[in-house]
Amino acid sequence: MNSNFEVVIIGGGTAGLILARELSNQKRKTLILDRKKDVLEFSFNTLGSFMNLKDFKLTEAVVARQINKITFHSSRVKSSIPSDLYILDKKKVHLELLDALDEKYVTLKTSVNIKTIEKDDVGNFISVTDQNKIKYTGKIFVDASGTNGIISKKVGLRAKKVDLATGVEYNVKYLGNPNEMFLLMGKMYQGGYGWIFPLKNQRAIIGFGTFDVRIVKDLKNRLHTILEIPYIKKLVVKDNDKVEGGSIPITPVLDQFVLNNLVCVGDSVSQVNPIVGEGYKFIFEAALMASKAIDISLEKDDLNYLTTYEKNWKKRFFANYTRSKNTQKKFFKYSQNNLLMDFVLLISKLVSKKRAIQSLSGEYGLEEI
Ligand SMILES: Cc1cc2nc3c(=O)[nH]c(=O)nc-3n(C[C@H](O)[C@H](O)[C@H](O)COP(=O)(O)OP(=O)(O)OC[C@H]3O[C@@H](n4cnc5c(N)ncnc54)[C@H](O)[C@@H]3O)c2cc1C
Repeated sequence: MNSNFEVVIIGGGTAGLILARELSNQKRKTLILDRKKDVLEFSFNTLGSFMNLKDFKLTEAVVARQINKITFHSSRVKSSIPSDLYILDKKKVHLELLDALDEKYVTLKTSVNIKTIEKDDVGNFISVTDQNKIKYTGKIFVDASGTNGIISKKVGLRAKKVDLATGVEYNVKYLGNPNEMFLLMGKMYQGGYGWIFPLKNQRAIIGFGTFDVRIVKDLKNRLHTILEIPYIKKLVVKDNDKVEGGSIPITPVLDQFVLNNLVCVGDSVSQVNPIVGEGYKFIFEAALMASKAIDISLEKDDLNYLTTYEKNWKKRFFANYTRSKNTQKKFFKYSQNNLLMDFVLLISKLVSKKRAIQSLSGEYGLEEI
């Protein structure tokens, strides 16, 4: 039995670590449990993000490349907009978060695969149990187990079976503008889209993701076909066979993340913005909200304060996520047909640059909703 912790976080991924860093700053006794042996081992290593690093106390060292131009490419139309965003090095982000943890307050245990959560007679959660039947107790539990959603699914905050959006990527040689990223769309992408993220040293990531379950098994072959498209061939050269990738859950927009003394953050409750699958900025913000709610709830010894996290999330995100979800559905439809996608891209040239970036980054602004 491992006890005396105020907060037990299941999952030392993005959401778990940012939350732990905040709790560490608040001097809260926190235990992070992760099933991996090494929390810096990932199935993919780069992310595009519109986040402001300073908002999340991250340094420029986590940036793999700063982008100032996004080019959209359908089968016959190309459209570019100026935009400031980052390609982030996932390992460096997580390293900075880990480095910021004060070991006086935060303990990280790896190779701990949580299987169950137990509650008392009045419905409060009292422990989680791992693969070796070891129990971990605490006052507040956090599910930050990502797509697995080990607790959120068990307690019914997320459906047990959900569709997944899956992406595959190659790290390739890059011949294009180092500050320009590409979003690739059309029938070939089967309701999803492709991306080229430039990195340092004339390298780039080329990837393709979709939530069309019919082709998930064929994603790698599709990516090979994409690599043969003449304008792609001018931009990237595949020089190795290492495939990276992973999945994110596709659910309706959820708005309940708290149940008694259980709090859920990140992919475990599908907090990735539906529009382009950007998780980082949104999950970071959610984790900050959750940490404040946890801190005040512990300070006042009143679990009711945990729901301030949900209330703040709804105020900040619910309308934007709902709108992004609707756009995602339309995009899925348009991208079944190349002509329609070309037309949509042509029309989008008439939209103001500011508005285009707002839509892409899932920040529509309340005045437009
Ligand atoms: C291919 C791909 C491309 C993406 N591209 C972008 C992008 O460009 N920009 C962006 O912002 N976002 C992107 N995302 C989304 C983003 O990566 C995720 O939303 C984010 O990492 C989710 O963070 P999380 O902490 O919820 O989950 P994770 O980071 O997955 O962390 C979950 C952790 O929980 C642990 N865990 C799971 N189950 C258990 C258990 N039972 N017991 C103990 N530990 C457990 C796991 O080992 C893991 O460490 C992408 C996702 C994918 C798959």
